[in-house]
Amino acid sequence: MSNKLSLTTLLTGLVTLVILLTSGILLVGSYESKKRSLTETTLHLNYINADRMSRTMDSLFLSMQGSLKYNAGILSGIETMAPEKVNEYLDLMRSSSNFFNSMTVVEASGLIRNVSPVSLGTAGKHITSSNSLEALAVQKPYISSPYLTANTKRLIVFLSQPVVGNTGTYLGMLSGTIYLQENNVLSEIFDNGQEEDSGAYYYIVDSDGHLVYHPDKQLIGESVSSNAVVQRLMNKESGEQQVRNTRGTELLAGYSSVPSNGWGIVVVSPIGQIHKELIGHIRILIGYSLFPFIIMLLGVILLARKFASPFVYLANVVSKMGKEKIELREAKQYWSREAYLLTNGVLLALANIQEQTDQLTQEAATDALTGLMNRRSLEQTINQWITADLPFSLVMLDVDKFKLVNDTYGHNSGDEVLIHIARVVAASLRPDDICYRYGGEEFVILLARTTPEEAFKAAERIRRAVEQSEAPVPVQVTVSQGVAHYPSHSPEQEGLLEKADQALYLAKSGGRNRTVIAE
Ligand code: GH3
Ligand code: MG
Ligand code: MG
Repeated sequence: MSNKLSLTTLLTGLVTLVILLTSGILLVGSYESKKRSLTETTLHLNYINADRMSRTMDSLFLSMQGSLKYNAGILSGIETMAPEKVNEYLDLMRSSSNFFNSMTVVEASGLIRNVSPVSLGTAGKHITSSNSLEALAVQKPYISSPYLTANTKRLIVFLSQPVVGNTGTYLGMLSGTIYLQENNVLSEIFDNGQEEDSGAYYYIVDSDGHLVYHPDKQLIGESVSSNAVVQRLMNKESGEQQVRNTRGTELLAGYSSVPSNGWGIVVVSPIGQIHKELIGHIRILIGYSLFPFIIMLLGVILLARKFASPFVYLANVVSKMGKEKIELREAKQYWSREAYLLTNGVLLALANIQEQTDQLTQEAATDALTGLMNRRSLEQTINQWITADLPFSLVMLDVDKFKLVNDTYGHNSGDEVLIHIARVVAASLRPDDICYRYGGEEFVILLARTTPEEAFKAAERIRRAVEQSEAPVPVQVTVSQGVAHYPSHSPEQEGLLEKADQALYLAKSGGRNRTVIAE
């Protein structure tokens, strides 16, 4: 029995489970939808930022190229200009715009003619880098990829414009250089844009997939062309997508290609940032719903108990049936139809059963004709008293010549006489004495804590009462009695009855209508 779950526990558990599951599903749903919207928003914001920066970069490069082109035009008469004059001019160009960290004029032969600042000391040398040689050879506007310079070991990119003489002959090129890992025009414009707290950052790649700008300056110059987003930028595409970077971190990237130089700008947010925000969101959600959730759970538990209570009561009542006397309560009005019908039905049935049982018990213990207790009750009581070692006397009473009454006046009149005698005996008893119908026209009277002598006196009183009573038949009715005592005459029931019977026999043989104490 004890390993069975109670209905209350079952109901409460079930409802709690349903609430927990529902909340769990809602929480997961909310988490997923928030994650989706956060991801989409972040991706889109990053794209918008990348696009904005790409426009800035585009107009910056157009300005840089425009400025170079204008100055290359002025340098068309360079063959007639003193070298110091050209140096001064380059210094002025550099300081007025801040576009370039250094500027160089290279002759068509590859000889570096002028350089600003002069302190670089490259004037008079020949260009060696493949980028420079290519730029000189193409005789067109040119943007290099990042590379390390041979003598200063700087990571640079340069822009160049051809210098064409007044007669149309190609004289060489004017180039402006950006020192990628030092303060430069890019860091001046873009460094302030790095947002620290959101975790978002951006980087710039050139048309070959080399980093030309990155918040981690050590990475500048490295090739990241294996990155999916960078590959799209190398195809001059713009857009947004989730991507894994070269260090294995998941990122939300917005990217935009810059038309004027073929570079690309990538704005990324680590996905971990979104998870942080999501956890915050879930915390807030749980914080807001915990209190109502607990209240609801308690309410549901109370309700479950209330619903289960009629069944719990019924189960308890029914389980006690046959083991102990059940106190039945009034049927109540229950919320549920089944509980109401069941409780009322069972209570009614139980009340019936109890009533019938009581009646049967009563009938089993009494004699139908006289209403006295019967022989079975007598034997029970004697047993109880002997077990409790209670001293008592027993009077066995037998109607004299009763067969004659029956024979003379009929069996019904005989019954009347038995009823009459029972009534007379009962009326003559002390409150604690009990009279039983032993069988036929024999009766036994039990007198607790009574000596044989006292019992004899009581028996005599009864005998006289019968003798003097007016019987329902026109003859005098008398009785004979034998008295026995526990424990002095016998320590057990059978012996005791036998002793009383023997005394009764003596009373009969002694002339009837008398009382004899057992020997
Ligand atoms: P004694 O003085 O020796 O006791 O004579 P008796 O006639 O009373 O003795 P006996 O035992 O021979 O007869 C008892 C009779 O009681 C026999 C039976 O017909 C009658 N009797 C027993 N029970 C009932 C009963 O319930 N109703 C009626 N009317 N008669 C009964
Ligand atoms: Mg008899
Ligand atoms: Mg008799």
